[in-house]
Amino acid sequence: MDFDLSEELVAVRDLARDFAEKEIAPTAAKDDRGHTFRKDLVLKMGELGFYGCVIPETYGGNGLGFLALTLITEEIALVHSAMRVFINMQVGPALALLQFGTEEQKKRLIPPLIRGEAVGCFAITEPDAGSDVAAMRAAAVRKGDGYVLKGTKIWISNAPVADNALIYAYTDRSQKHRGISAFYADLSQPGVSRRSLETLGAHASPIGELTFENFRVPTGNLVGKEGEGFKICMWQLNHTRLSCAAGALGVARAAREAAVSYANQREQFGQKIGQFQMNQDLIAQMVVHEEAARLLVCRAAWLADQKQPNNLEVSMAKYAAAESAAFAADAALRILGAYGYSTEFPVERYLRDAKSYQIVEGSSNIQKLIIAQDALGYRKANR
Ligand SMILES: Cc1cc2nc3c(=O)[nH]c(=O)nc-3n(C[C@H](O)[C@H](O)[C@H](O)COP(=O)(O)OP(=O)(O)OC[C@H]3O[C@@H](n4cnc5c(N)ncnc54)[C@H](O)[C@@H]3O)c2cc1C
Repeated sequence: MDFDLSEELVAVRDLARDFAEKEIAPTAAKDDRGHTFRKDLVLKMGELGFYGCVIPETYGGNGLGFLALTLITEEIALVHSAMRVFINMQVGPALALLQFGTEEQKKRLIPPLIRGEAVGCFAITEPDAGSDVAAMRAAAVRKGDGYVLKGTKIWISNAPVADNALIYAYTDRSQKHRGISAFYADLSQPGVSRRSLETLGAHASPIGELTFENFRVPTGNLVGKEGEGFKICMWQLNHTRLSCAAGALGVARAAREAAVSYANQREQFGQKIGQFQMNQDLIAQMVVHEEAARLLVCRAAWLADQKQPNNLEVSMAKYAAAESAAFAADAALRILGAYGYSTEFPVERYLRDAKSYQIVEGSSNIQKLIIAQDALGYRKANR
């Protein structure tokens, strides 16, 4: 077992760290307060090859792998969690196309995504279908050389700004979840309306609703076969969930670093507050939860790079990292006291951003469900 990163991975991580410090950090607070969408940063991350890590060179990627992508994602989220969302919005649809698309689709649709030129998103969730994906109501009806889509998708990251969307909708409701299909759609076509939504955190990551009414998608943009949508969705979520876990790690680390730095400076009762054992208890837990989550994230990414099943490991990594981020941000806020609660310092942003990781891409409960069902032998996660 080798816990050292290769020289190549160290170089990739350092590139992302340098980029985040120089390009993201200076305006992170301002972007968060202003709810600013930074298309320039989406493009720059594409230029640096971040989205291309898990895409082969044939389709414009660099094939560095999932471990590389998780290292990059952690560095970006460390500085500003909202900016790591863009990685998933470009990589998620690109990966689904790579795995399930036709050769023509891969050549046509993947390169603009991984260059960051076509802003992507994936639309699964609906007002009445969150964790229960198969409860979706969106429907696509075959008409001539295309499909006509109708339905509403909600809480879609990038919905207000996306050029394209990977959309999941029923083509045959009688087949239950086996009647869902996946479509890669051009959102500049008529029949789609958008509504921005406000959330607690990740303010620089636009989020909203997409409503489709008589929205046409050519048959050439059906991804996989009709009825394969649920399978594609679960496959895609397993990969974007890993990136999410890496993002949560970044937030956990940011919160821990802020807490340690403050505890070493702030004095009360004539000593540094780091000397108080109750604060040490919080710091020890932050360190251990974060490091345990990092090992799980790296193992899940390593398995992906070995092309081995990793659904169970991804769920464990996502659960551990999301909970570690939420714990660390809450603990950091306690340690910083009023300064933590103040909007002058980034810790309140870490807490707002950390909460999203317990919900997105399968809530912590859903991850626990997958882990427990596997342990109990009810449903093996890695099938
Ligand atoms: C910031 C953000 C970004 C998002 N981006 C996207 C996106 O880009 N694309 C997209 O499609 N969706 C996106 N979503 C939606 C997200 O995927 C859903 O919010 C998530 O799947 C949970 O669904 P829900 O919020 O409807 O909660 P519900 O499914 O209604 O769950 C509510 C509560 O019940 C629990 N629960 C539900 N089912 C079970 C169960 N079987 N056992 C135990 N507990 C259960 C959940 O854990 C949760 O605590 C985003 C959400 C957020 C907050």
